[in-house]
Order: sequence, then C-alpha cells, then structure tokens
Amino acid sequence: MAIIIDGKKIANDLCKKLSQKINILKVEHNIFPCLKVILVGSNPASQVYVRNKQKKAESVGINSETVVFSDNLSEDELIEKISELNKERFVHGILVQLPLPNHISASRVINTVSVEKDVDGFHDENVGRLVKGERNCLIPCTPKGSLDLIKLVESNLSGKNAVVIGRSNIVGKPMFHLLLQENCTVTILHSQSKDLAEYCSKADIVVAAVGKPNFVQKNWIKEGAIVIDVGINSVNIGGKPKLVGDVDFDGVKEKVKAITPVPGGVGPMTIAFLMINTVIAACLQGKVDAYDFVSSGL
Ligand code: NDP
Repeated sequence: MAIIIDGKKIANDLCKKLSQKINILKVEHNIFPCLKVILVGSNPASQVYVRNKQKKAESVGINSETVVFSDNLSEDELIEKISELNKERFVHGILVQLPLPNHISASRVINTVSVEKDVDGFHDENVGRLVKGERNCLIPCTPKGSLDLIKLVESNLSGKNAVVIGRSNIVGKPMFHLLLQENCTVTILHSQSKDLAEYCSKADIVVAAVGKPNFVQKNWIKEGAIVIDVGINSVNIGGKPKLVGDVDFDGVKEKVKAITPVPGGVGPMTIAFLMINTVIAACLQGKVDAYDFVSSGL
C-alpha cells in the first residue's frame, strides 16, 4: 500500500512549530516578521493564492499586507513601489505575485526586490546561491516543500535516481539543484525530451511539474518509487470543475512507495515554505543565524 503523503497535515505541523519560533523571534530578538505581497491586476487564480498566503501568514504570527494595483500600473511605477519597500526596515519579505501583466518585465521586477527580502527565491543572486549550494539563502518554496516531503519518506537520498519533469525557473530547475545537493543522480525532462517513459521507469523519485492533467502514466513508473505531483490543473468532470495533478493518481498509487495527492500535497507545502522563507528573511536582516534558528526542530 502506497503512503499517500498528507501535505496538508505536514504543512500545518510545520506552521505550528514555525509559529513558536516566531514568538521566540519577537520576545528574544525584538523581530516581528513582516511580509508584503504585491498583486497587479485581477487574475482570479492569483487573487485566491494571495488570499491564502495572507491568511496563513496571519495564522502563524507574521504581519502581512497585500498591496493591490490595477492592470494598467506601469513597470516603472511597480519598480518604484518595490524600491520603497526595500528601504522599509520593518518589511522583511516582498513577494510579487506572478504572472504579471504582459507589459511588465517579470525579470526586471524580480531582480528589483532586495536579495534578502526575496522570499520567493527568484532573484538572480538567490538562484546563483542555490546553484552553489550555499547556506542561508532563500530557495523557491515549491521545490523546497517538495524536497521536504520526499525526505520525510526517505531521509537519505544519496545515489537515488531522480527525474524532474519540467524545467521552469520556479519549479523544475531549482528542484533539479536541490536533488543534486542531496546526492541524487538527476535527469531533467522537458517538452523536447524523448523517451520520457524510459527515463521515468528507472527513477526512484519522480517530480512532475508540467501542467498537464494525467500526463504521468502508471506504466512509466518503477515499483516502489516516490512520486511528487506538483501540477495543478483544473478539469471538468461531470460538468463540475475539479483540481487534478500531472500524474494519473489512481493508477500510479497502486505501485509506488509514496505519492502526493492533488489537492493536499505540494500546494500547502508551498505556502508553509513561504512562511519559513519570510522568517529566514527576517533572521537574515536581524543578524540571527537563519539556518540554525529556522532549520533546527522544524
Ligand atoms: P511552466 O509552464 O513554466 O513549465 C512547464 C514545464 O513542463 C516546461 O519546462 C515544459 O517544457 C514542460 N513540458 C511541457 N510539456 C511537456 C511535455 N509534453 N513533456 C515534457 N515536458 C513538458 O509551469 P510551472 O513549472 O510554473 O508549473 C508546472 C505545474 O505546477 C503547473 O500545473 C502549475 O500550476 C503547478 N504549480 C504548482 C505549485 C504548487 O504549489 N503546487 C506551484 C507552482 C506551479 P519546456 O521548458 O520545453 O517548455
């Protein structure tokens, strides 16, 4: 019987422990972690994500505010707002909800956020630190949360074959580096890759981040593998919208050691790790050793 990894419970437990650490930060270090979320436009999915982030922040004791701008905000106006927030000492984390409207360069915006406040871990400098395997850097939340789930099933990943499907900057590529740091032998697959089934069939760990429902099939997967389904796809079943992942969950779960469901797998971990990153950012700016403070006991 496969372990169905309960990301929701694991994320809730993480947040409870984090909340205690936030209290210590407040009482012993006079640091009150604060996250500012910037939303440009009225994309309904983004509005839901931002609301969930804000609710979770409040529940763990992080001060959080969402700053909403209309679709016609110019790139320069957004850059100016971020530059102001960079200077505000009480703001520890800045998250710009993606996607941005087409007239705004996401890359310029992301790289305007100060490196120490970049809780999404998308700034070029944080990407470089991740590639070099440095401590105390801000790592993208979804891959970090996914790795956490994998390590709860199998603590030592050394020598394991891992396949990551998808090479986006926010999921696939950072996932590749995190698994590499765990001494896995990592293959990354993308839309131009051939023989996906063959690569997957040799993998002890498969992380799917494609954005296509039921993409990963049962016959691709090795017996006893760990499968992490990052995908979130809305499909119509019997006239009703339903969220599904990238993996044929019902088929694949029959042969794996562990698998994440959608919803309730990676999604809640992404939000939990945003909270953790905000606390890491607060530590970095408050000159508290973030790695020791946040990592121990979580
Ligand atoms: P992107 O669209 O940025 O990337 C998708 C990747 O899948 C690309 O690298 C693309 O390859 C690859 N791909 C597309 N088609 C194929 C194919 N036929 N075979 C192999 N690879 C293919 O998506 P994201 O990385 O942003 O997100 C992926 C999924 O994860 C989405 O469903 C998204 O909603 C979800 N997501 C979930 C999160 C969570 O918290 N659970 C957080 C972030 C994302 P190429 O580069 O060649 O185009």
